Amino acid sequence: MDFQLSDEHRMYLDTVRKFNRQDVLPIVMELERKHAFPHELIQKAWKLGLLNLSLPASIRGYDVDLVSTALIVEELSYGDTGLSTSAMCNDLANAVIAMHGSAEQQETFLRPFADEPLLASFCLTEPGAGSDNSAMTTFIRKGEDGNYLLNGEKCFITNASFATQFTVFCKVGRPDGMMVACLVIPHEWVSKSEVTAQPSGGRKIRLPHGGTVTTGKPEDKLGQRLSNTATVTFEDVVVPEGWIIGNRRLGFQYAVDVLDYARPMVAAIGIGLARRAFDVTVEYTKNRVQFGKRICDLSVARNTLVAMWKKIQLAEAILMKAAWKVQQKAVDRGMFASLAKNAAAEAALFCSAEGLHLHGGYGFMTEYEISKLARDAHIIDIYEGTREVQDMIIGRELV
Ligand SMILES: Cc1cc2nc3c(=O)[nH]c(=O)nc-3n(C[C@H](O)[C@H](O)[C@H](O)COP(=O)(O)OP(=O)(O)OC[C@H]3O[C@@H](n4cnc5c(N)ncnc54)[C@H](O)[C@@H]3O)c2cc1C
Repeated sequence: MDFQLSDEHRMYLDTVRKFNRQDVLPIVMELERKHAFPHELIQKAWKLGLLNLSLPASIRGYDVDLVSTALIVEELSYGDTGLSTSAMCNDLANAVIAMHGSAEQQETFLRPFADEPLLASFCLTEPGAGSDNSAMTTFIRKGEDGNYLLNGEKCFITNASFATQFTVFCKVGRPDGMMVACLVIPHEWVSKSEVTAQPSGGRKIRLPHGGTVTTGKPEDKLGQRLSNTATVTFEDVVVPEGWIIGNRRLGFQYAVDVLDYARPMVAAIGIGLARRAFDVTVEYTKNRVQFGKRICDLSVARNTLVAMWKKIQLAEAILMKAAWKVQQKAVDRGMFASLAKNAAAEAALFCSAEGLHLHGGYGFMTEYEISKLARDAHIIDIYEGTREVQDMIIGRELV
């Protein structure tokens, strides 16, 4: 594997670094304090070509390989992981269409994302089906007119309040069925719908074909407050055959394919956060003097900085291997994607917690960025499968 960055990589990374420096980092603490959704930053990132990296060449005009995608997501996450989570969620929702949709579906469902800075949601998790996705009860059943009707509730859905397209995983035939389908409620229909604000702070989307999609009140989260998270409820949504992606019995396999692609991206998010935690901590400990020395020159504190740096370097090396394996479609890509996610979550949690500790009491003050990073870090170990779920995947492959 070649670790040399190409001219294209450097150009992309320079673009993201400039974006972080000029647009994100100066306002991120203020946005996070207000729980404000960063619409303007998303639009700017889209204009810079930093969003929708999973779009195929037929739509985007060129391909962005997975190693490059990981480098871009990591850099974007250095600015803020709520922002990169929101951006990456488009890929989570759209990668399955790029992988398994027909040419016509790709044109219908993916083209709008190349044309406009839109947001999509990936709807897999349910109140009763988190780590165990197979327990989902959202389902489609065929109506008398040949169309399907979709009913059910999804929770913790990123971008839900602003999404104009929903990628949904659901059972076929009945809520306790065995088969899972993947379908898309497209931008065209959501944008033609009647949308009413709900008293809860959510929205009710009355689709022109029939049925409603209701998004709940945005969740009040511990961290990643720049990302939006809410429930999504489907009530008698009419689903024409053309909205179903690929084989309607293979949705579960498609979800696995997407998660193999997306877990290195979550790893990139975690490493971006860990790097930011390391940098703000080095900066702080260079300026704070105790016992007549800079904190970073006190040997025990310096050991902590070294331990933080080592976790980041190891997680980054694993991420590159995982991204490369997924790109090559290697048979063991799933276990490396899981390993990368766990290593990055460990680095993010360690660097933000130890970084906060090295800030002393100041780290506990919300005005210091390290306190935000420490809150943000927890979700890296949870979404797209918890640490235990990743270990289950690795364990299964090992034996
Ligand atoms: C901010 C945020 C954004 C999210 N975005 C999305 C999104 O866009 N789309 C989407 O579909 N989902 C999303 N999720 C959902 C996320 O993927 C789930 O929360 C996650 O998979 C865990 O599911 P759960 O919360 O139901 O936890 P549970 O499955 O209830 O797990 C609780 C605990 O039990 C452990 N556990 C569970 N099963 C086992 C086992 N077999 N062995 C050992 N331990 C076990 C878990 O590791 C965990 O520690 C998001 C969640 C959050 C918080």
